[in-house]
Amino acid sequence: MRKFDGKSVYKGIAVGPVAVLSQKEEQVRRSRIAHPEAELARVREAVGTAQEQLQALYEKAVAQVGEASAAIFEVHQMMLEDDDYLDAIYGMIRTELVNAEYAVAVTGDNFSEMFSGMEDDYMKARAADVKDISNRLIQCLGGQEGKALTLREPSIIVADDLSPSETVQMDKTKILAIVTVHGSANSHTSILARMMNIPALIGVALDLDEITSGTDAVVDGTLGEFILAPDDAVRAQARQRLDEELEKRRLLQELKGKDNCTQSGRKLNVFANIGSVGDVGYVLENDAGGIGLFRSEFLYLGRDDFPTEEEQLQAYRQVLQMMGEKKVIIRTLDIGADKQADYFHLEKEENPALGYRAIRICLKQPDIFRTQLRALFRASVHGSLAIMYPMIISTEEVRRIFEIVEEVKAQLREADVPFGDPEQGIMIETPAAVMMSDELAQMVDFFSVGTNDLTQYTLAIDRQNARLDDFYNPHHEAVLRMIQMVVDSAHRHGKWAGICGELGADLELTETFVKMGVDELSVSPSMVLPIRKRIRELA
Ligand code: PEP
Ligand code: MG
Repeated sequence: MRKFDGKSVYKGIAVGPVAVLSQKEEQVRRSRIAHPEAELARVREAVGTAQEQLQALYEKAVAQVGEASAAIFEVHQMMLEDDDYLDAIYGMIRTELVNAEYAVAVTGDNFSEMFSGMEDDYMKARAADVKDISNRLIQCLGGQEGKALTLREPSIIVADDLSPSETVQMDKTKILAIVTVHGSANSHTSILARMMNIPALIGVALDLDEITSGTDAVVDGTLGEFILAPDDAVRAQARQRLDEELEKRRLLQELKGKDNCTQSGRKLNVFANIGSVGDVGYVLENDAGGIGLFRSEFLYLGRDDFPTEEEQLQAYRQVLQMMGEKKVIIRTLDIGADKQADYFHLEKEENPALGYRAIRICLKQPDIFRTQLRALFRASVHGSLAIMYPMIISTEEVRRIFEIVEEVKAQLREADVPFGDPEQGIMIETPAAVMMSDELAQMVDFFSVGTNDLTQYTLAIDRQNARLDDFYNPHHEAVLRMIQMVVDSAHRHGKWAGICGELGADLELTETFVKMGVDELSVSPSMVLPIRKRIRELA
């Protein structure tokens, strides 16, 4: 038994096997074979198995992240049928009399190198896909342990770090907990962990080479401990606590269907934050009153090109239809900083958090923005949509946004495409927006305070830098006063103000927020019922 300390991102306990997501390629052994035909048959069988796996992954991904993001698995299926690729593997087995695993590994490397050397960016990006399908084939041949990204059983993911796109691609139902060597509590991966109700630890000093996938472990998100190969006593204790936790969750279920009303009758909206269509299930399961933040940029991550208007429309429509009459606030693209997609070709920046991101990209590259706005306005006829713009610093930006919105609406009108009249609001994530909130409130329908960024920009602390977590004090009086100012500005002009940053879920502050007059709290789906409980306890 070995115990490691880490920083807790999400409380909770998990017991189960670990799946190590190793950065390193595993070595495949070369061996000489006597019967090439038998080896060829093994490859054919493995191709069949891999195709089935990819089909299953595709279907799962469609349900979780929508068709657009799932398309990558279809591409992999097509590549697995490619004659050049398969002939190269067969040829090598026949002429060099080598084992199937080795032939696949070498062919995968050769093809991947060939793609990387190509001029065209799209073809270049295929290099990683060939590697991926070759690794899958080798797994199917039984020659290599599975990578954690394609989990076969519910597991504790152990990795050096996880990018938001990697997290998006994982099968959420199979993640018991996440343990990373690096990472920060305010990163999007940590936010995803909280959203999915998954115990998570970061900053755990592990040597991944020393850990074998399948080893039993315990993750204690409350104490911030990772225990590898626990003894019977530790395991039994963890299981007992897990049972208690489940019991607590059952109790919270009793709050379903109740309203978020203090004892003196003040009512708040408690909404949920999501990153994909697949998250709507968690929203409904936890009885949220609406979606207060749909981080639409996740539609753009983990893929090779911009999602088309139709792809976006499909995703937004699905969310709206699943939510029925409940409000869905979709935030326009907030790419940049820690959320990177290669095809945006964003330059490397000295200070990405202060750089070319979010609304700045949309205003500088309005074609990207227009496509999203067209999809949003078209989707607005399918439910109760509100649109929210991120990272605003000035009234000029809002004015320019509304000009573009009017252009888009005129185009739609001309083409006889129906659209609704969604509410339009902004995120308050910069001290500039706070200071201008009185003027901004006169222009928009609502405010939603993004406390993650507002804290980072107010305290001048990089939310991604784990070394600064001790300084990152979200209860800082400066931040709390800013929230009060924002709420007051909104109310002065008859608008509403909510909080959609992580602070909204802080149970220690619920009472403060109620007193401030905050109208809405949008939190991870798993925090909706605990917040409701807290509000109902308040006098
Ligand atoms: C925030 O900054 O608080 C916010 C909700 O946006 P994100 O975390 O996606 O940057
Ligand atoms: Mg933000």
